[in-house]
Amino acid sequence: MLRELINKYYSELKKDREQRHFYITDTGKCPRAVFFKFKKAPAEEMDPRVLMMFDHGDHIHQLIMKPLFGIRGIQVVAAEVNIPPQELISGRADAILSDSKDLYVLDIKSINGLIFKSLAEPKEEHINQIQLYLHFFKQKKGILLYVNKDTQELKEFLINYKPEIAQSLLNELKDLKTKIDKNIVPDRIPSWPDNWQCQYCQFREICSMTGEGNVSWESFKNKIEAESEPR
Ligand code: SF4
Repeated sequence: MLRELINKYYSELKKDREQRHFYITDTGKCPRAVFFKFKKAPAEEMDPRVLMMFDHGDHIHQLIMKPLFGIRGIQVVAAEVNIPPQELISGRADAILSDSKDLYVLDIKSINGLIFKSLAEPKEEHINQIQLYLHFFKQKKGILLYVNKDTQELKEFLINYKPEIAQSLLNELKDLKTKIDKNIVPDRIPSWPDNWQCQYCQFREICSMTGEGNVSWESFKNKIEAESEPR
């Protein structure tokens, strides 16, 4: 009984969410998948287990923040800090820390043990996300702190602000916003369908039906609706 009720809770939680602007975590995601998310295109149901894992990740973040509040020599200047409000994108960094000399934007990532073990460099999508935090908070230094979900081991990487990366990411998001507003479905990612994002994508079916290249969303929707009408 409880298993079904908990699964239902997570499934309904997801349905209520409607996306109106980008999140910093959309950076580096397949533009077509982000487009479909904005348009609420038909998607495969997300496994409630995955949504529960996101919640679990939040708890791990809280666990990491606890000692930071008590460590001498480190001040938590702000925790769970939203980027300044603007139209294109929203996001919340885990914390801004100070060592009395410099400020650091902290982004905590919880990952599974296998990925953690082989992690010698921070992941590109995470570097991109922290570059945007640094850009919006006007800071020069960030820390990506990885937590092994299975063992609670930690690895940290210092990231310096690179304005050219942040600007190029913002330009990509602006291009995607134009496509969303003009109802142009972006092309698939080049390594479709083998890319890991495709393996976990909720829009695999609709992406395959849409075909290659930039496609008109309106004509595609009309075609699907016509095909589904009773003859
Ligand atoms: S299947 Fe791959 S290319 Fe298509 S929307 Fe999903 S992630 Fe993008």
